[in-house]
Amino acid sequence: MEQVIYLDNHATTRVDPAVLAEMEPFFCERYGNPSSIYHFGGEVMAEVERARIRVAELLGAGYRDRDGHASEIIFTSCGTESDNTALNAALNARPDRRRIVTSVVEHPAVLAWAHEQERRGYALSLIPVDERGRIRLETLRELIDEDTAVVSLMWANNEIGNLYPVEEAARLAHERGALFHTDAVQAVGKVPIDLDHSEIDFLSLSGHKLHAPKGVGALYVRRGTRFRPFLLGGHQEKGRRGGTENVPSIVGLGKACELARLGMAEEVRQLAELRDLLEQRVSSAIPKIRLNGDREHRLPNTASISFEFIEGEAILLQLDQFGICASSGSACTTGSLEPSHVLRAMELPYTAAHGTIRFSLSKFNTRAEIEKVAATLPPIIENLRRMSPYWEETR
Ligand SMILES: *Cc1c(COP(=O)(O)O)cnc(C)c1O
Repeated sequence: MEQVIYLDNHATTRVDPAVLAEMEPFFCERYGNPSSIYHFGGEVMAEVERARIRVAELLGAGYRDRDGHASEIIFTSCGTESDNTALNAALNARPDRRRIVTSVVEHPAVLAWAHEQERRGYALSLIPVDERGRIRLETLRELIDEDTAVVSLMWANNEIGNLYPVEEAARLAHERGALFHTDAVQAVGKVPIDLDHSEIDFLSLSGHKLHAPKGVGALYVRRGTRFRPFLLGGHQEKGRRGGTENVPSIVGLGKACELARLGMAEEVRQLAELRDLLEQRVSSAIPKIRLNGDREHRLPNTASISFEFIEGEAILLQLDQFGICASSGSACTTGSLEPSHVLRAMELPYTAAHGTIRFSLSKFNTRAEIEKVAATLPPIIENLRRMSPYWEETR
């Protein structure tokens, strides 16, 4: 098989071989149930607690309980579970309040939940975005009222890479007595996070977006925050999430968080350099493109580029011939020809929204790969435009 050039790291990431190596013993050798009282289980529990501390360290969550555990961290099965758990807990903690405030550009793990609560009788206020996907804090301030139970704002957007002012948003929520949650799935490992010096109540993250396996996530719940479990069952996670711990993946997530913490500064520099190279090459070689999103406050690894007058899906199929993986809109909207909810919220012109490709890089990408993509794209775009009736009209 031809070598794959993987530029779709917001969809999922490669498990870091160092992460896999730490997980390996927990399948066939150290497979005890962490809740068992014998050593064979208890020693595994110690590894789960070590992983919890590693996650907390990446998030700047310094609290340790009497046992020395980073008990503000709860392990879950994925980012979606973390989001749903946090948001349900927030509604439960503010039972007299009936409004939910979130943004139009959230991941479906938050938006679908919010629409479901709306069907159940909650009022839903959605923060709009401008043409670069930015929100205004002033608008947010106006939307949060005394009836608001929870405000949820993502830290980093998975489609366009925008960073949002979550620390300020948390303060605005608290001014009105509302709780604050952030979906930080795309921010963790790429942005410095310092929860001890913020007012954020809940933060969600997912393993497979930061080089740990699929099927593990974590939720930060600030100590003292009223919490109700989403999964009721055994006493795992101090009674906050039933279900036997996914030990190998939890250990893997811990390792991935440690690697991210130690390598972040260098990684961010490298990612931004490659991202800028890609944007520069594409901009200089191809006419009629747009670089989407906030040019200032953004992730280092994301380039959302609109190639006007052609379909993103057609570009992806052509790139696939060269083993290049990228994404149009988001995975959740691929397959339909509707532009994603994020691009629609930004009111990108029809002819640009349809031709939008998201390139999302990781630490495993190389300069040579980016050069290859930059050389492969121009003829693809030119050919597709030659067949496009819209393109003809512009000439
Ligand atoms: C991928 C993603 C999720 C969902 O995480 P899963 O672990 O796949 O459930 C949530 N929010 C954002 C921003 C994401 O990119």
